[in-house]
Amino acid sequence: MNKFYITTPIYYVNSYPHLGSAYTTVAADVLARFHRMRGEEVFFLTGTDEHGSKVAEAAAQKKTEPQKLCDQVTAKYEEVWDTLKISYNYFIRTTDSQHAQTVRYFLNSLKEKGLIYKGQYQGLYCLGCERYYTEKELVDGQCPFHKKKPISFSEECYFFKLSAFQEKLLKLIRSQKLIIEPQERRNELLSFLERNQLEDLAVSRANVKWGIPLPWDSQQTAYVWIDALLNYLSGLGWQGDSQKISDFWPPDVQLLGKDILRFHLVIWPALLLALDIPLPRRLYVHGFFTINGQKMGKSLGNALDPEKMAEVFGVDALRWLMLSSFPFGQDGDISQSKFYDQYQAQLANGLGNLFRRVLTLAAKSDQDFTPPQKEEKKIIKILQQTWKIYEKSLDDLKFEAAIESVRKVIAEADRYVDQNKPWELLKKDFSRYQEVIYHLLEILRHLGWLIRPFMPDKSDLIFKGLNLELAEKKKSLIQGKKWGGTIFSPTPLEEILFPRL
Ligand SMILES: [Zn+2]
Repeated sequence: MNKFYITTPIYYVNSYPHLGSAYTTVAADVLARFHRMRGEEVFFLTGTDEHGSKVAEAAAQKKTEPQKLCDQVTAKYEEVWDTLKISYNYFIRTTDSQHAQTVRYFLNSLKEKGLIYKGQYQGLYCLGCERYYTEKELVDGQCPFHKKKPISFSEECYFFKLSAFQEKLLKLIRSQKLIIEPQERRNELLSFLERNQLEDLAVSRANVKWGIPLPWDSQQTAYVWIDALLNYLSGLGWQGDSQKISDFWPPDVQLLGKDILRFHLVIWPALLLALDIPLPRRLYVHGFFTINGQKMGKSLGNALDPEKMAEVFGVDALRWLMLSSFPFGQDGDISQSKFYDQYQAQLANGLGNLFRRVLTLAAKSDQDFTPPQKEEKKIIKILQQTWKIYEKSLDDLKFEAAIESVRKVIAEADRYVDQNKPWELLKKDFSRYQEVIYHLLEILRHLGWLIRPFMPDKSDLIFKGLNLELAEKKKSLIQGKKWGGTIFSPTPLEEILFPRL
């Protein structure tokens, strides 16, 4: 069976889940569900990043222990992901003892290979990002993401010979052996690596107590970013043997936001190269939701609460709306009123209305609908093309394009109803009425499959209305996307697919 390993970044417990972190996680979930629907064996990993001085400081401010704070925030993440129907296979926490073991194995292996040395670090450090900045990277002397001045910092610590991997990384990216998408991000990274000499990376901290102690020097803890990146290995239970990781390795898709680009596109592959571990197949940098052009985040005070949004729109609709708003690799501005307009147009008046209309029309006769002699070639062709575009789009992480292809089917079905006027056919030409309704029911069945990764419960409801709840779930996707062969005896439902807001 084909295997598919997908990861989100793990989320820092310094903030509660907001619509930005929900965006990444829902996107990963749609891909996970899509690949499961295709019959693949999926491992979907997400989790929380729990170490570092910021967490210790936040805990001290709240007069609690760091671990307690982590437990609280992580519980909230798990709760919100459950609400949003995130079907992860494993939730990794960097305070898990098994994760700490992986980090120790990894750092020890680097040291044994002579890739770690002791040195002195001095630099400008952003507490928000938990990383050092060079003067050049700052905007008006401030961190470009937190709009705050970094602090000046000096300490003794251990370094990883990151600089030794510059040429290797360049070669791999140029030859497409390391795939970074979208193209703009790849080009950006290439020109960065061509123009700048990579500096060695401080991988430990002397004065951060809330972290994983180094295996050879318990006075130092692993730099929180190294700790965090290794979750992708520890989440699969890696125990230090680079020949034996897991059948799921390497990751097929790793999603990340552009604020953590250097860590995932430079440091992460370099760490893997250092231990001869196969690189991820694809690193995908998605865009940000912005509100008035600003990145959303708790520290900026403009975060939208995914649970509240789910109360307004419903969970399934929220998942759809987030991914239909703008292309995944780009930034887009959002607002509740835009979501509202999209909900009305695409879901309440679009799919919801079509579903109710077709079931009502079908209920006007008491008969089953069997495959007709005469098939509408045009409709069959449209569905076949839709499946092609839809699957290609999801393979390319073009969620908005996949959604667009589904919306075209809905529009086509609406047109088909208006042209054929089945309510008139019912009196004039019963066999033609049966033909038309059969085609519409079959379109709905396809729509049930097409929306499934995005809106699993609405998909169930469509199958329920078609009286095919069990039958469709037993099918493989290959069977599901075939035209015809189904005998329909639909049952009008009490529930409304997408209630008006
Ligand atoms: Zn920052």
